[in-house]
Amino acid sequence: MNTLRIILLLCLALPLSAASWKAGTAKADITPNTPIWMAGYGGRTKPSEGTLHPLWAKALALEDAKGNRAVIISTDTLGMTASIYANLKARLAKEHKLQPEQIMLNASHTHTGPVLRGGLYDIYPLNAAHIKRIEEYSARLENEIVRITGQALKNLEPVTLKHGIGITRFGVNRRENKPYSDVPKLIAAQALKGPIDHDVPVLAVYKGLELKAVVFGYACHSTTLGIQKFSGDYSGFTQIALEKSHPGALALFSAGCGADINPLPRRVVHLAERYGLMLAAAVEETLLQKMQPLEPKLNTRIKTIPLEYGALPEPAALAAAAKNQTNYRGRWAARMLKLQADDDVPKTYPYPIQCWRVGDLLWLTMGGEVVVDFSLNFKKQYGPRTWVTSYCNDVMAYIPTFRVLQEGGYEGQSSMAVYGLPADRWKENVEDLVTEGINQLVRDTK
Ligand SMILES: [Zn+2]
Repeated sequence: MNTLRIILLLCLALPLSAASWKAGTAKADITPNTPIWMAGYGGRTKPSEGTLHPLWAKALALEDAKGNRAVIISTDTLGMTASIYANLKARLAKEHKLQPEQIMLNASHTHTGPVLRGGLYDIYPLNAAHIKRIEEYSARLENEIVRITGQALKNLEPVTLKHGIGITRFGVNRRENKPYSDVPKLIAAQALKGPIDHDVPVLAVYKGLELKAVVFGYACHSTTLGIQKFSGDYSGFTQIALEKSHPGALALFSAGCGADINPLPRRVVHLAERYGLMLAAAVEETLLQKMQPLEPKLNTRIKTIPLEYGALPEPAALAAAAKNQTNYRGRWAARMLKLQADDDVPKTYPYPIQCWRVGDLLWLTMGGEVVVDFSLNFKKQYGPRTWVTSYCNDVMAYIPTFRVLQEGGYEGQSSMAVYGLPADRWKENVEDLVTEGINQLVRDTK
């Protein structure tokens, strides 16, 4: 009887263990080792001066019960540029047999990381030597990402996956609560205005009872700091705290739709650390709650939609701006004049959107800096088990909803020139195109 029972148990156990998720992890220190221009604020006047804490690229490879694979890559960078994304897609396909839909390339949007190849060049006074250093660094970054992806795929081992959602409240709608100096008073009076998304989505990867990796999100700009030292901003501190309290585990940040959300007040290191610890506490609390186990089923899709540019700037206005090339607008205007003269102005941008189903978790990713309306809308439409990641794969511009586009301001309009794009704004159908594209992808990803 006992022998029979053991055989029966073994028979039951075999398909169970064979039907599990597998996961592998790897990471690389990507801190620049020489001074280099820092990405994200046009007002900087000089390259970096040292390091507050290291910058990381991290890879979490997943494989479902049928052998479908995908890799989440997180980086402490402002955003992957079109050139880096193109190179990585080609190399990851060639070297690791990964198609673009299987690659989720995240950027924390830290404003204390290096400028990357082709990223916002107009806003910095770069000379040839600066650009050479940026290109060398970008090649190193690509090599490291390809290397850790291979390492993570090589290390795949049986795991369980769980999903949960926590909350933390330091993100403030930056369009609706100005001047920023009023924000502490508004917080004290509980009188902050504007849409926000305070969810902290968490994907936990367990090897037995041990946490092997945790991916966590938050919809808030990584702009606490504007110093000349490298750091991952608040989410860098979160990663450090989580990896300290779970030795051996890898913590990866997946930035949400925080394009119009700032950590406020800000600009001092202890606030970046405080927000980082608040986010870490929200993740820890979620890990202690009853999280939802995810079935070992993975389906991945990606699509690029041609986002249409709105009206082009008038040549006369460009010519006037181009007279002063000591500022970014002048440098951008001079480039645009040449593009217009050569009749070489693109009409659309190939905008990447992605949909993963991880068990019953619906994970949407969007390129660019996406305003918070999008994550609120998609979660309302598709339910609470929906995770919306922004700053993903290619960060080429802000992505406003129709409301923000109409209101204008930085996220709706003036950031287009900062990003070096040829139009003053996206066309009025930007929200419709993005939403229709995502809806189609969700339908296609069963
Ligand atoms: Zn930004």
